[in-house]
Amino acid sequence: MIDDNNIDFITKCIHVGNGIDKETGAIRRPITMANCYRLPEDASSINWSDADQLLYTRNTSANQVYLQEKLASLEGGEDCVVLASGVSALAGVFFSFLNKESHVICSNVSYIAVYRLLNEYLPDKYGIQTSFVDTSNLEEIKKAIRPNTKLIHIETPGNPTTKISDIEEISKIVKSIGALLSVDSTFASPFLQRPLQLGADLVIHSLTKYINGHGDAMGGAVIGKKELIDKIKREAMVNLGGTISPFNAWLIMRGVVTLPLRMKQHSDTALEVAEFLESNPVVKFVAYPGLESHPQHNIAKKQMNMYSGIIAFALKADVDTHNKFINSLKLITQAVSLGHDESLIVYTGPNDERINFYPEQFREGYIRFSIGLESASDIIADLKQALKKCGLQ
Ligand SMILES: *Cc1c(COP(=O)(O)O)cnc(C)c1O
Repeated sequence: MIDDNNIDFITKCIHVGNGIDKETGAIRRPITMANCYRLPEDASSINWSDADQLLYTRNTSANQVYLQEKLASLEGGEDCVVLASGVSALAGVFFSFLNKESHVICSNVSYIAVYRLLNEYLPDKYGIQTSFVDTSNLEEIKKAIRPNTKLIHIETPGNPTTKISDIEEISKIVKSIGALLSVDSTFASPFLQRPLQLGADLVIHSLTKYINGHGDAMGGAVIGKKELIDKIKREAMVNLGGTISPFNAWLIMRGVVTLPLRMKQHSDTALEVAEFLESNPVVKFVAYPGLESHPQHNIAKKQMNMYSGIIAFALKADVDTHNKFINSLKLITQAVSLGHDESLIVYTGPNDERINFYPEQFREGYIRFSIGLESASDIIADLKQALKKCGLQ
């Protein structure tokens, strides 16, 4: 048996959660596509919401357990729950830790489903109160605190602006009021940033993105202290039903093996592409945490090992020209999602409902660019030829 505590992160990515299959001796754990498991001889006292034993796949599956073991180890947390998507992980946190008297403080730049849940559905249906604030500004967080503040939820780097919030400083504020801090760390992955070590209570990932990394499976995870994770499993997993399929858990388990290699390359290439864009006179702005011009570059430098692969930028051009630019790209694919092996790009025009929360320069529309694992020179050549087609070069 390997000792998880005494091996490096890159070694954990390979070994933790894997094992020899007892029945066949295969050195890879198999995919167990079963809806249920043989019950013990005396099943009379089983709690049917128990997520700790293999009963029924909505209560937990074998492949889910292996992946939970790996992700808890990578984030340095006691326990992990893996769910069907990043959104089911986020919703699981909100469902489990907010009640009808609760107030939550949330980054005003966050994943769209978080905005919908906290701005609309949970307040309208259950009377939950939300303050959306610029969480890169500690004073704004302090000002928003109420006696019933139960949770502070941040996303760093934030989707889509790449805004950085200071996890360590925010965790001090959260501790002083006895609330919980949840951090959506999807853009960073555990290779670049470990929020639990900086004082966060819960780390959330869309496994769909970097952790799987290959664009072929969806999943979500929450990592933290066992008592918090148990509550999510009991309340939100078994009884809301956002269970991951064993096949997706297996695919993600396979994807995560190469996470360190991929994150290094995503980060190196993204910095090169960001520098190319920033030096180009037809580019209106570039937001990338690795650039010194990024407003929170110093916080990023303090809490991240590298700066990951997402860039936001815009051209000095109108909506039609942006669309023409995107559609002239040959290698880079126009699609949502991010953190895949291939580069993905999406243009959002000025009509986004949250545009007023974004920094000024985003408000006439912006491009979110997820840098893939292609060579930097091929990516830059594709950008150049598309700019040329739009008469911009
Ligand atoms: C994609 C994403 C999510 C949602 O994850 P799904 O797997 O699509 O449900 C949540 N947070 C961030 C930062 C994301 O990029």
